[in-house]
Amino acid sequence: MATRVAVSDGGNKKTSRVRVAVRLRPYMNKEDEKSEGPCVRGLDSQNLEIINWRNATETVKYHFDVFHGEQTTQQEVFLSSVKPILPHILNGQNASVFAYGPTGAGKTHTMLGSSEQPGVIPRAVREVFKLVKAKDVSDGWDYSIGMSYLEIYNEKVLDLLSPNSQDLPIREDKDKNILIPGLTHMNISKFADFDKHFVPATLNRTTASTKLNQRSSRSHAILLIKVVRTQQQLPHRQQTGKLYLVDLAGSEDNRRTGNQGIRLKESGAINLSLFTLSKVVDSLNSGTSVRVPYRDSKLTRLLQDSLGGSAHSVMITNIAPEYKYYFDTFSALNFAAKSKLIVNKPFTRETVAVLPVKRSREERETGGSGTEPQKKKHKEEKKSEHDGSSPSTRNHSSSDQSLMDRLIALEKRTMSSQDKERLAMLKEIKELKEKQRELESKAMLFSQLAGEKSITGQEPDFENKTTALRRKQSDATKPNKQQAVVQPLQVSQRQPLQQLLVVKKQSVCVKKKEETCSDLIESPGGKENNTKSAWESQLDQSMVDQSKQKILQILNTGCLKELKSLQQIGDKKAKLILGWREIHGHFAKVEDLIQVEGMTEKRFSSFMKANIVSAMGK
Ligand code: ADP
Ligand code: MG
Repeated sequence: MATRVAVSDGGNKKTSRVRVAVRLRPYMNKEDEKSEGPCVRGLDSQNLEIINWRNATETVKYHFDVFHGEQTTQQEVFLSSVKPILPHILNGQNASVFAYGPTGAGKTHTMLGSSEQPGVIPRAVREVFKLVKAKDVSDGWDYSIGMSYLEIYNEKVLDLLSPNSQDLPIREDKDKNILIPGLTHMNISKFADFDKHFVPATLNRTTASTKLNQRSSRSHAILLIKVVRTQQQLPHRQQTGKLYLVDLAGSEDNRRTGNQGIRLKESGAINLSLFTLSKVVDSLNSGTSVRVPYRDSKLTRLLQDSLGGSAHSVMITNIAPEYKYYFDTFSALNFAAKSKLIVNKPFTRETVAVLPVKRSREERETGGSGTEPQKKKHKEEKKSEHDGSSPSTRNHSSSDQSLMDRLIALEKRTMSSQDKERLAMLKEIKELKEKQRELESKAMLFSQLAGEKSITGQEPDFENKTTALRRKQSDATKPNKQQAVVQPLQVSQRQPLQQLLVVKKQSVCVKKKEETCSDLIESPGGKENNTKSAWESQLDQSMVDQSKQKILQILNTGCLKELKSLQQIGDKKAKLILGWREIHGHFAKVEDLIQVEGMTEKRFSSFMKANIVSAMGK
């Protein structure tokens, strides 16, 4: 009998970085109805630039481990980004290659390809067979190769080699290997065996996708190739190396693209997995000792032993050059980039220049767009001080996603609209910005008033709030919220609890236009219109309000674990809450929890009762 041995990583406990490659697919006429040409282009083997949406006279330059330009062949992508990591899986180490990017940017082309232009998957499988074959019998080990093929859809793990299977569990053994009990594992001894199982499963998935609302663009397809080597001599030690080849769900933001056709749960789940992946990659690449949040989604949980740690990981970010992909490209680049730089070097046509030129007055008012990012940031900070907003209220305003989303959506529409319509929209943008400034100064005023009352002894809650604010922090030049890779050393600010409450009041103001902001500001404890439950009226109102605020804080900023620390919130509900937050931003009030799937009024009432009682007992 063979003895399983823990894989040695050469004593190197250091968490390894995820190598990041970007692949720009060729420009396609049919994707560019307005014949606007490309908005992004490569500069050299590591750098690319994209037009700056705030100022067409500038471009934003990004740096990556590798940049694959439009002309790059499938073979070149494979040779430079994938082949070098494959020998490791014959030595019992793990590896993962995943394709990230918006739908239509070339993920499937990169991973799967076509019979004329095979992609990473068939090339990698062939190479693994070749490497095993090349091993000399005298090296003392026997090798066997196996495959599994699965999909994560809606946070469910589904076996693509056994299509009728149900959601499969993910487990970890004592050596920290991740396992999926019940997942089909096929032994394969030659490439034709692989093809025999893989092709029909892929075809099934694609056919189903057209029926099921483009499911394939919303699910993660994961191929696992396992190489087990067993020592020929006693004690027959055994080592397993795993290679994950992943075609991820599309990274486009369904809120922004106005994709109404999908159910909230579905988009929430996808966002949760991709969002968690971004956090994981960010933690791994930031080089700090922050917790890597693998457990927060199925995808990252599954990849846990093959992403970071001693594993070898490559992310190929696929992007498309046409303007219609502009914002999704920007988001994908911000997720993938190690660094970026705004340079004063225009390369696009006049058509896109119209908006930024007309917006220039706006730009000046809000801090303007400088040619150097550092100076620009500095200027903006200075400006907000003049406006009467402190740095902390700046955080508040930028965390107000609904307003920001509307601005982004409007500006996006403006880019593609006729002159007359554009003027009307610019007017609306101006009004929104004024509204935003007004809210900021009111928030500032309130935070000053509330400052004296700030609650002490809130330290544990507080850590989460700062993380959440950082996550929500959005600079208008970066429509994507996942920016930590770009600026890994952002300084997080500690703010008193009361100031943070302002954020919610602010977002209430934006969401419910009819309600006046001053009403809300005058009621810092939280104005409740709902009739109180019987049990509630027996308790001290100020204590109830305080407990509610505590619960709200956790709902809005808690990580999976903290959400689960709430009474009556298990793993599933906590994930649904995270998903809801991804779509809608903050809960304006605890009652909004009813909008989360599965939370009926009755359950909500029972949830509140249990948690308020528990919070008051602390
Ligand atoms: P995704 O999987 O990201 O949604 P696809 O791989 O389906 O995107 O690509 C969209 C379209 O673009 C397909 O028709 C594909 O063949 C084509 N395409 C993508 N990348 C390339 C490339 N590098 N060269 C040629 N065609 C490409
Ligand atoms: Mg695809």
